Parts: sequence; structure tokens; C-alpha cells
Amino acid sequence: MIDRLSAREPFDILVIGGGATGLGCAVDSASRGCRTALLEAHDFAKGASSRSTKLVHGGVRYLQQGNIALVLEALRERGTLCRNAPHLVGDLAFVVPRYKWWEGPFYGVGLKMYDALARDRQIAPSQILDRAETLAEIPNVEPDQLIGGVRYHDAQFDDARMALGLARTAADLNAVVANHVRVVDLVKESGQITGVAAIDAETGRELRVNAKVVINATGAFADRIRHLDEPTASAATLPSQGVHLVLDRSFQPSDSAIMVPRTDDGRVLFVIPWHDRVLIGTTDTPMPEPSVEPRALPEEVDFILENAGRYLDHDPRGEDVLSVFAGLRPLVQAEGNDEETKKISREHTVLVSASGLLTIIGGKWTTYRKMAQDAVDNALAVGGLGELPCSTESLPIHGWMERTHPDFPEESTLQPYGSDCGELRALESEDPSLAEPLDPQLPYRGSHVVYAARHEMARTCEDALARRTRSLLLDARASMNAAPRATALLAAELGRDAAWCEAEVARYRDLASGYLLWNSKTQSG
Ligand SMILES: Cc1cc2nc3c(=O)[nH]c(=O)nc-3n(C[C@H](O)[C@H](O)[C@H](O)COP(=O)(O)OP(=O)(O)OC[C@H]3O[C@@H](n4cnc5c(N)ncnc54)[C@H](O)[C@@H]3O)c2cc1C
Repeated sequence: MIDRLSAREPFDILVIGGGATGLGCAVDSASRGCRTALLEAHDFAKGASSRSTKLVHGGVRYLQQGNIALVLEALRERGTLCRNAPHLVGDLAFVVPRYKWWEGPFYGVGLKMYDALARDRQIAPSQILDRAETLAEIPNVEPDQLIGGVRYHDAQFDDARMALGLARTAADLNAVVANHVRVVDLVKESGQITGVAAIDAETGRELRVNAKVVINATGAFADRIRHLDEPTASAATLPSQGVHLVLDRSFQPSDSAIMVPRTDDGRVLFVIPWHDRVLIGTTDTPMPEPSVEPRALPEEVDFILENAGRYLDHDPRGEDVLSVFAGLRPLVQAEGNDEETKKISREHTVLVSASGLLTIIGGKWTTYRKMAQDAVDNALAVGGLGELPCSTESLPIHGWMERTHPDFPEESTLQPYGSDCGELRALESEDPSLAEPLDPQLPYRGSHVVYAARHEMARTCEDALARRTRSLLLDARASMNAAPRATALLAAELGRDAAWCEAEVARYRDLASGYLLWNSKTQSG
């Protein structure tokens, strides 16, 4: 990829940012036949796109806010994603527990409306549950004064693995997708943008990449790129932080999730089984400045623990937290809007500057494909590239495999590899030591790291443990223990020496210590 960038290959469309939005744009652009490049400063999905709640959903809370158009668009995209990436997206049942008599009809009617809007026969309809059924479905729910529940269905995914699926889909379509390459400037001729200047982080070398159109898909960092173009441009994004705590599976031992539509301060609380752990979240805290490694604030952690304790029988405590992670939602800043961020729309916006910089912000993971379609439609017009139809609604994502296929893996951490699973199994047959777990507490093996280096552009220990595998999120301390072996496996693949290994392990452990609860609290406190 770097060779192709260095060769000064001319591109039609260049995308800055390798999160959901940028990768979606690269797939869309390449699938329309445009010569496409994508540059990511860190790693694919390093930002919000690996730190989400992992739901592919219409957004029950947007229904509460009366934003039917957004719910309809997201439900349609949910159906598209289930078809195009069945290996990455699976059904998940949610139960809303009922403690007051009116909650049955209230949530029941709302969720029937959600079913009707979805018109998706692949996903089961909602249902009212009595107390016994509710306790059977979500055994750790607070039983005191529980009347029953309402069950509805949405979809769940592994966000960083989806990002890798998109990166590989774009590469399969001949796009250049490069991680660890930061855009540092925009290049202009006669006032029009003709490309970017970028730095390859591994060598420090500057690269000049020419393109007819540049798309800024840098999420919470979008205004920084806009300011390279127009230093006085007013802010278009408002980063809002969301935090999740990861707990042992015993806190939600069944396959269903718990959804609390309205906590004390009006937020939604999710308790979700994911890769044999439980995610609890989230928060919505406006942040004045974006950060590459956002950290949970003590009050966010306290809020989640307190509210989870209210709805769970076995209350989680600080010492139960295996990992805490924070992400920044790149919300669209409505002019003059000083409302709380949880009320600001998640809808997306495309901005085009006088010099032709196209910025796409907002939206959510679920709607990445539609966002990309809108961005590339606009890019074709800006770059005079003609009318090329979008085909991503029926484009399979790399690794496509039906869940009913006899070879579809049972292990949830293997499922996102889809049809590539055989390659991981082959690595383990060739070298049985690669079948050993990276750590007894983690569901990942040596084969995952070797595969990540050979086929998924993993360049650092963090790439392998945070996003190719989700070790950092599943158990931060266990991932720190796994770092030396993961790094040694990477070094053998990438031809690195002992000094590199030592520095990588130290760097990774420093990063991962920020995902331990007590450290996260002291760092931000
Ligand atoms: C807590 C939380 C929970 C969420 N839950 C859900 C959910 O359950 N379902 C859902 O659908 N959505 C969810 N979302 C929303 C979703 O995660 C985001 O909308 C989406 O990931 C945004 O993607 P993005 O590509 O726009 O931004 P990002 O993922 O942040 O990507 C931007 C990328 O740009 C790169 N970049 C920045 N500057 C440069 C530069 N100079 N050069 C090159 N690259 C650069 C960054 O490194 C980063 O990788 C959630 C978000 C948060 C924060």
C-alpha cells in the first residue's frame, strides 16, 4: 500500500480517516470504479469505531425522541448489514424490565411501532413477558417489585472487526488503504484542493498523494482537517464521550441483553452480553477537545455502576470491572445549539468547502453505508467524475458467510472472520503452538496474531490486541500479560528485533493501564 502511495499513483478520491465513515467511503468509491486511497493516522477503527456499544440498531431512543426518519433509515440499514455481512452481524434479544404497571402498555406499544417500522421479517417481533419469563430470560435482573418485561430484537456486531472487513473489501476492490499514515496538510492549486501531504509513522517519510477529491472522514477530529483548509471555519462537530464497563459474564449469564430506556437522568442503559463478557453503558458527556485516547471520568464510572446496581440483582463493583473504555461520538454541531448532547441528533451532514474539501460527520455505525453513499455522490459532483451508480446495498463484505453454513464457527470471537476461518485453522494445524491461548483469561490464540500480521495490516501490539483481537476490551490486565507473546509473534512476521519488542510491550502496557478502572480514575481525577 505504501509503495503505491509513494509511486504517486493518481487517485480520483482520497479519504482521510479509517473509521466506519471513511472505510465506508473507500468501499463505496472503489465499488463505483473510482481510483481510491484511504489514509488512517493510527489504525483502522482506532477512534469511535472500536469503542461503540456494538449495536446495529434503529435506535429505540430516537423513537422516544420522535425522530421517525432516523429510525426508519437505521432500520433499513440494519437489514442491509444483516444481508451483506451475516458473519459480522447477529441477532440480539433485549428485555426491558417492567417495575410499574404502565410500563407494559407504554413500552409494548412503542416497540410494536419499532417492529412495524422495521418491516424486517428476519428479526423476530417484540413480545410482552410476565415476571417468570422475564427472570428466565435475564436471570440477574433486580427481582424486587419486578412485574415483567418487554422483549424486542435488534442486531449486534464486533465493531473493529467490521472495520477490518470494510478495509479488506476496499482492498479487494483495488483501493489503497493504509494505516499509520497521518495527513498533515492539504495541497492546493489555484485555490482548489488537489491532494494531501502525509507522514508514514513507521519511517517518518513524507508522502504527497494527489486526488481529484479529498473526503474528510476524521470523526471527532474533522474540524482539525477543516481548519487546515479554512483556519477560521466555525466548529461543525461536538465530541460527546460515551463510556462502557466490561464485566464477567455472570452479571448477565443468558444470551439476552437488558435495556433500561430511562435512567434517573433520562439516559438509556444497556447491559449486553458480548464475546462471553458483559458490556454496561453508556454515558453522554460533552468534551471541549477530542483526544486520541479518551479516558472515562470518575463520575461516568460511578453513574454506570450506580444505575447498573439499581437494575441488577448481583450488583457490580469497581473491582469487578475487567476493562473500561471511552469513545467520542462525532456529533453534528447544530448552530447555536447549547442543549445537552444526548438530545443532539445522530444524523449525518456533508459539508463542501469553497476549495472542494468534502467533510462527512455525524451518523452512527449502523448508517455508515448510507453516509458513504451520500458522501461519494457529492464527491463525484465536486470532482467532475460523472454519474457512477452506488452498488453497496447489495455488496457482500469481505469474509461473507451465512450463519447456517456448516463451517460457520461456534466461537463468537471466530465468527467475524467468516469464510477466512479456515485460514486461521490451517495456521494452527501447521504449527500447533499457535493454537495456545494468548492468556488463560482470553479467547484468542497465537493464530489470531499471525493472521493479523499476514492479512490484516496489524503493525503494532496494540493493533493486534485492541482491534484484530478484542483482548484489551475483554480483559485489560490479561491483555497486558499477553503482550510479550503477541509482540514476539508479530516481530517474527514483520522482521523486527528485540529492541522493537521491548519498546512495543512497554508502550502497550502503558496504554492498557488506562483501561484498568483504578488507573482510569486516577488518570482523569
Ligand atoms: C460510546 C459510543 C457508543 C456508540 N454506540 C453505537 C452503537 O451501538 N451503534 C451504532 O450504530 N453507533 C454507535 N456509536 C456511533 C459510532 O461509533 C460512530 O458514529 C462511528 O464509529 C463514527 O465513525 P467515524 O469514522 O466517523 O469516526 P472515527 O471512528 O472516530 O474515525 C475517525 C478516524 O480518523 C482518523 N484520523 C483523525 N485525524 C487524522 C489525520 N490527520 N489523518 C488520518 N487519519 C486521521 C482517526 O485516527 C480515526 O480512526 C457509538 C459511539 C460511541 C462513542
